[in-house]
Parts: sequence; structure tokens; C-alpha cells
Amino acid sequence: MNQYDVAIIGSGPGGYVAAIRCAQLGMKTAIIEKYSTLGGTCLNVGCIPSKALLDSSHHYEDAVKHFEEHGIEIPGEIKVNLEQMIARKQGVVDQTTKGIEFLMSKNKIDVYQGVGSFKDATHVNITKEDGEETIEAKNIIIATGSKPSSLPFINIDKERIITSTEALKLKEIPKHLIVIGGGVIGLELGQVYKRLGAEVSVVEFMDRIIPGMDGALSKELAKVMKKQKVKLNLSHKVKSVERKGDEVIVKADDKKGNEVTLTGDYCLVSVGRKPYTEGLNAEAAGVKLDDRGRVEVNEHLQTNVSNIYAIGDVVKGAMLAHKAEEEGTLVAEILAGQKPHIDYNLIPGVVYTWPEVAAVGKTEEQLKEEGVDYKVGQFPMRALGRARASMDIDGFVKILADKDTDEVLGVHMIGARCADLIAEGVTAMEFRASAEDISRMSHAHPTFAEAVKEAALAATDDRALHI
Ligand SMILES: Cc1cc2nc3c(=O)[nH]c(=O)nc-3n(C[C@H](O)[C@H](O)[C@H](O)COP(=O)(O)OP(=O)(O)OC[C@H]3O[C@@H](n4cnc5c(N)ncnc54)[C@H](O)[C@@H]3O)c2cc1C
Repeated sequence: MNQYDVAIIGSGPGGYVAAIRCAQLGMKTAIIEKYSTLGGTCLNVGCIPSKALLDSSHHYEDAVKHFEEHGIEIPGEIKVNLEQMIARKQGVVDQTTKGIEFLMSKNKIDVYQGVGSFKDATHVNITKEDGEETIEAKNIIIATGSKPSSLPFINIDKERIITSTEALKLKEIPKHLIVIGGGVIGLELGQVYKRLGAEVSVVEFMDRIIPGMDGALSKELAKVMKKQKVKLNLSHKVKSVERKGDEVIVKADDKKGNEVTLTGDYCLVSVGRKPYTEGLNAEAAGVKLDDRGRVEVNEHLQTNVSNIYAIGDVVKGAMLAHKAEEEGTLVAEILAGQKPHIDYNLIPGVVYTWPEVAAVGKTEEQLKEEGVDYKVGQFPMRALGRARASMDIDGFVKILADKDTDEVLGVHMIGARCADLIAEGVTAMEFRASAEDISRMSHAHPTFAEAVKEAALAATDDRALHI
């Protein structure tokens, strides 16, 4: 029987990063993945393919709507070749997952393809296509991730009533895509198909889209999406989703309790994701799950069984690839006797719509709830030369800082390239910068990053220069 210092079940961003860090720290490491490709949800059916389709559809929209204004004329009709678009996306996924295979072999990590299930606290059975194998490990990390969740009355048929996984490989552009859930995944994929020509209706239970983020971001994104002619049905409680031939009929109650019926040809159910522990046989090792089916862990991500840890989407916290990665690194370093730390308040959140939305730290709503005395500095993208040059004028940067100490408590932004710009907010907050610290740093001109400096100036005695 093969023996390891550490065995990791699941090869998503949590699992594969944990494996690399364990190997770097000198541990004999194995990783077990039930699918034939490594990389988990993120690389196969999540972050990477969705961004590939967002990029392709963005190019198409630019070509149709904006090229002429830029002085670029394309003779003849500009058409979408969806098959090619999906094939390019798959090419990106294949290249990326192969990259993980390379990293596993470079770091001398043994990869097992099969379903991993606990035999006991130190043994994992691997059910492969061609039989069973058991390995022994001193420590085991559960990194089995998550799966799309649904509502109890919805029957996901994977043809017309679909999850994000199917939405990433449709064979036709929907005529009318109904998206249930106005969160990150629904809005990103909704925008892909809107750009490609579908009518898109979002049905959201809460009174705003991207409910977890700062209210100002929800408001601005809703404004832009309405301009893009995405229909937002807020405060709508979906009560049935039925398929009739090629039609999908969604019924919901609006705020006043009136029934609203939407008829489309596809319905994307994006109401969140649930932790995935099926087939893991956690009971055999005595590992406890919490009341929401997540693996229960302490602040060191250790389960109730001392040599078993869990990371990523399968434990509490934001379901984000970079959160899973940080946790993978943390557990590896704990196993090596180090004392790492994650500040969960500083895990940024990003929505890759256009304009992009990104945030780190506390929202204004949270600060109010916590009774913190804060000040706000906000700067609109449209006041930037860079934004006008590329015609990306929607959005703003908003900085929240402590009223007395000027320490930055939250950075919230919507606009072009905010997914990348938020790193400045994270860096500043990681070093406990004040708004004035940011405002005194030189920001290259012309860039979108100047909005961060200007928002910091606005938070520092209302000193923005360009507005
Ligand atoms: C459409 C979409 C877009 C997204 N976009 C982003 C984004 O832009 N940015 C971001 O940060 N996050 C994004 N996410 C979320 C992100 O994908 C997850 O947070 C991340 O993948 C979680 O990583 P993980 O390692 O915990 O689990 P996963 O990536 O889910 O990986 C778990 C792996 O474990 C395997 N596994 C499960 N059980 C077993 C078993 N018993 N034996 C062997 N293998 C097993 C699974 O097959 C899977 O490969 C997106 C998700 C979706 C669906």
C-alpha cells in the first residue's frame, strides 16, 4: 500500500494548491480527483470557462456596437459562431487543466484518478474505472468543493432548465434566457448571452442584485444592466419552473403578491452552490458535518478528527477560488509546523460583468450595523481621461475609511478593469493604510487606477482633484 505524509481529496484550486505547497515543504503528497481532468470547478466549469465566454462575447458586442464609433468598419454582417466560441473556451480549459497536470508532476505529487472515500481516519479508498486501491496518509485534506444547488420544486433537466455547467456549453443562443438568481454567476452568464443577442430576464428574491455587496454597487450595476436591456425582476419569489416542449415557464410572486409569468426557451438556475461530500464516506473517519452539510472546521481548518483538515467550498466562508487557494496554503504550512494566518475580511470579491464589480473589506451597510464612525470618498470613472479614451465611463470607486484614524475599512468599485484594480485596495488594507496613504501614492496617468487615488483624496478632507 502506498503511504503518504498527506493525501488530498479533490483537485480544485484548494486541493491542487494545497498539494503544491505540501510538496514544496517536503511532504510526500498524493492528490485524488474523480474526474479525468484536474482543476475542479474553477478550471473546468467555473472561473476560467466563464471568463473565456465573457471575453469572447465582449469582443462581439464591441464589434457590433462600438467599432464604428472607433472608425473601424467591417463590411458585411458580423455573426456569432457559437460552436467556435465554445470550442475556444474548451481550448482554454484544456490548456489550463494540462498546466495543473504539469505542476503535479513538477512537484512530484502522485495523482490518483478515482473517487476518494474514507476507509478510516488514515486510509482512503480510491474507486477507479479499473478497480479499487487504498492509500495510507498521516494527514488528509478534504477539498471536494461544491455543486450547483437548486430549489426543491425545480427539476433541472440539463437541457432547457440548466445550471451554470450546461450554460457554459449551449449549442444555440437562447431567444429568451430566464436567470433565476441575481448573484455573481447568474449575472455573468446572463450578460454573456445578452451580448450574443438573447433576451435576458433575471428573477431575484431580494430587492437588489449582487445582494452581498455594498448597496451602491448593486444600484450602479442594476442601472447599467437596465441600460443594456437586461430585465431585472427584483423582490420576486419564484414558485414554479415548468418545461413544456421547448418552452420554460417560470412563475413568481412579486413584492405585492401578484403572480408574474415569464416564458422563455432556457432557464438558468443560479441560486447558489452547496458543499459536496457525496461518496466521501466522511462518517467512516468520524468527520462531522455542520447543519448546512459543510465539513465542520476550527480556525486552523482542522476537523474534529485531528489529522483531517478541510478547505475551500466544502467549508464555511465565501465560495471563491482564491479563498480556497489561501486555505490550501494555510493547511500545508500548519502541517509543516508554521503559523500562517488568513484575514477573511481581506478576501476580495469580484463580479466579471462589464463593468466589472470588485470589493474588499466592510460594506457601508456592515459599518452602519457595527456602529463604526466612517467617512466616504467616491470618484466617478467618467471623470478619468483613461475612461473617456476607451469609452468605459460607467461606475465609480468608493473608499470607506475610519472617521477618526483614516484607516481604510472597505474599497468598493465598479468600472472597467476593477477585477484587477481591487488588488490595490487589498494591499492597502493588508498594510492597514489610511486613505491619505493611498492619496499620496503616485498613480500612473492615464489609468483607471487614478480613480482609486481620487476616491482616497475624496475621503481625505474631500480633496479630489478632478471633479
Ligand atoms: C460558473 C462559475 C464561475 C465562477 N467564477 C469564479 C470566479 O471568477 N472567481 C472565483 O474566485 N470563483 C469563481 N467560482 C467559484 C469557484 O469555482 C470555487 O469557489 C472554487 O472552484 C472552489 O474550489 P475548491 O477547491 O474548494 O473546490 P472545487 O473547485 O469544486 O474542486 C473540488 C474537486 O473535488 C473533486 N471531488 C469531489 N469529491 C471527490 C471525491 N470523493 N473523490 C475525488 N474527487 C472528488 C471534484 O470533482 C472537483 O474536481 C465560479 C464558480 C462557477 C460555478
